[in-house]
Amino acid sequence: MSYFPDSPGQNLHAFAFSHGRAEHSRMSQKPVVIWLTGISASGKSTIADALDVALHKQGRMTAIIDGDSVRGGLCRDLGFTDGDRDENIRRVAEVARLMLDAGLVVIVALISPSSASRHCARSIIGNECFVEVHVDAPLETAEQRDPKGLYKKARAGLIKNFTGIDARYDVPVFPEVHLNTQALSVERSVETILDWLTHNDANS
Ligand code: ADP
Repeated sequence: MSYFPDSPGQNLHAFAFSHGRAEHSRMSQKPVVIWLTGISASGKSTIADALDVALHKQGRMTAIIDGDSVRGGLCRDLGFTDGDRDENIRRVAEVARLMLDAGLVVIVALISPSSASRHCARSIIGNECFVEVHVDAPLETAEQRDPKGLYKKARAGLIKNFTGIDARYDVPVFPEVHLNTQALSVERSVETILDWLTHNDANS
């Protein structure tokens, strides 16, 4: 499929807008992208939702980008090959960056299985604003939860390239936050993220 080539077109010139991320953050809050990565049913969407509610209680303006919803719209042309997964992540990172520049606290819930593509997202967004959160659960636990019945389908061979079954998940080596959702309640997971933001001056 032809998409934009890697290098931007020669006739593209980025306009130097008067107000960017710095001005928007002075206006409202410190913008940050909280990037939740983990295998299916590890708890990303559940924690994203509870985190969003908690941040709203603090008066923060937030946005959630959830894997399943972008795959139904922005990325509906993409499948689950390695190349398509990378492109999915790249697009989400670009959208998150636009939201970040608008001054929002952006919560991304995306399996994002390859460490290279998470690295790419980090470089698109900027290291200083990227908080990688590994939402971790053993495969057996995720498989037992299976809220969408996807593991059952993958085990039956009805879904190919399913992360954890027949597609790999690169465990984050140095995530900013690690959540073991087998041991932590949803509330404790949210507190752990909020504590990290506070201690790293990203929650002001
Ligand atoms: P993902 O977005 O990672 O695919 P979901 O959030 O959709 O995962 O589903 C996770 C499931 O696990 C939900 O049904 C949730 O209620 C359940 N669950 C049980 N314990 C936890 C926990 N401690 N943290 C997060 N989710 C949990």
